[in-house]
Amino acid sequence: MKLPHAINCYFALMLFSAAAPAFAQELARSITGSAEQAREKHLKMQTRKFGLVVHGGAGTIKRSNMTPEREREYRTGLERALSAGYEILKRGGSSLDATEAAVRVMEDDPHFNAGKGAVFTSAGTNELDAAIMDGKNLKAGAVAAIKHIKNPVNLARLVMEKSGHVMMDGEGAEAFAQESGVELLPDQKYFFTQERWDALQKIKAAEKHRTGQAGKEFVITDQDRHGTVGAVALDQNGDLAAATSTGGTTNKRPGRVGDSPIIGAGTYANNATCAVSATGDGEYFIRATVGHDVSALMEYRGMSLKEAAQTVLDKVARLGGTGGLIAIDHRGNIALPFNTSGMYRGYVDPNGKFVVEIYK
Ligand code: ASP
Repeated sequence: MKLPHAINCYFALMLFSAAAPAFAQELARSITGSAEQAREKHLKMQTRKFGLVVHGGAGTIKRSNMTPEREREYRTGLERALSAGYEILKRGGSSLDATEAAVRVMEDDPHFNAGKGAVFTSAGTNELDAAIMDGKNLKAGAVAAIKHIKNPVNLARLVMEKSGHVMMDGEGAEAFAQESGVELLPDQKYFFTQERWDALQKIKAAEKHRTGQAGKEFVITDQDRHGTVGAVALDQNGDLAAATSTGGTTNKRPGRVGDSPIIGAGTYANNATCAVSATGDGEYFIRATVGHDVSALMEYRGMSLKEAAQTVLDKVARLGGTGGLIAIDHRGNIALPFNTSGMYRGYVDPNGKFVVEIYK
């Protein structure tokens, strides 16, 4: 079934009503103020906007390669992520909590290349990257090349809040995790999925045959190579946040770090402009400083979110990179451009309905 939404969605989002108990409290407080003031404040609260967008990676995702069952599993995964973040936003929670929760759900889902189900390096290991950013104060936390943490996005948040640093990698990041009470996995078995392992074998075989005509069995799809998860949100306080988590790209060299944990590339949030989470060929997204560029075009050029997001993705394409991004601005407008045949993506529409799309 073809979904009606265009590649670049741009929506004026959500007018969700804030909770009634807040009104009661406000009325109580109004003993010293007027009932009229309290009513006005309540009306203001009623029109507060919030919004949430998630992605589960972009690439050559074709209907012809997808079984209905598999498609359902991806859709369910994205819906679960939306639900985790949406519940927090609806209650008046922070965009930071919402993005962290949404990403965590996808890290736990073996279908996505983050946490469980992460792709393999050329050495047959898993090395995970993640980042989170708070648009309110431009605080950020990121981890790279970590090997024994179930939920890298939680560690990224800990780095932001407790380490005094912005980015930590490898053993140092894991030692910090342990000091902070995060349990380390004894080995990497937890991350294993047969599908990701087979993808690595396929790529290695293709490499060997590179000089000759590669047979059909060696055709490598983007699906084999990458896929990442991310979330961006606007909360009822008007604060933006972004979070991204990934296993990187299949067959990457150990030690390779992609765009996802790089603040300003795969992840960025600034209350003055927007929040961005990207997915695709990390090397190109780093070189194009995707997240910060989208924000800068809005801040310094006065571009709309949609225009800025597309401009930057075009820059990635000119360099030779493929992928996509999700973004939300401080007004609740969203953009989800991509230049591949598909991107696993979802958002909450103005009526609170979850919309999940995969293909172009
Ligand atoms: N951008 C990620 C990376 O390069 C991979 C992806 O999004 O598929 O590590």
